Amino acid sequence: MSKVKVIACSGIGKVFGLMTREATLQVTNNLQPEKAETVCLAHVVTGEADATAKVKGCTCITVDGCPALCSAKSVEHAGGIVKAKFRSVDEMRNHRGVDAGSATALTEDGWKIVDEFAEKIAAKVTELVEEEQNNG
Ligand code: SF4
Repeated sequence: MSKVKVIACSGIGKVFGLMTREATLQVTNNLQPEKAETVCLAHVVTGEADATAKVKGCTCITVDGCPALCSAKSVEHAGGIVKAKFRSVDEMRNHRGVDAGSATALTEDGWKIVDEFAEKIAAKVTELVEEEQNNG
């Protein structure tokens, strides 16, 4: 099977967007490099051929900053099969009152939250790969 696509939103003005990108990169670069890869959401949105081919009909996990779910909606629109939708705003609900950082830099606590977040996404990658192997 092809690698699971983990696709972060493009949130730029708040810490939530930074968290989606850092968590996604941790999954695809460090935790699950054999089973997962990322795709640039902007390329998915603009219909760039390589990005569209990677997403269409493929198992995807989206990582959004907020309930607008820009990644989930765009990936579905491009024909991706979104099996799980994560939101960094939900992670922050589990850490009320913690200063995770700003739109451009995470605090030490922010990195810990991102680490936990990435572990959850990585576990979902494993689950989806096993599911496909059992069905395949
Ligand atoms: S999901 Fe929210 S944070 Fe992410 S790009 Fe959309 S509006 Fe911005």
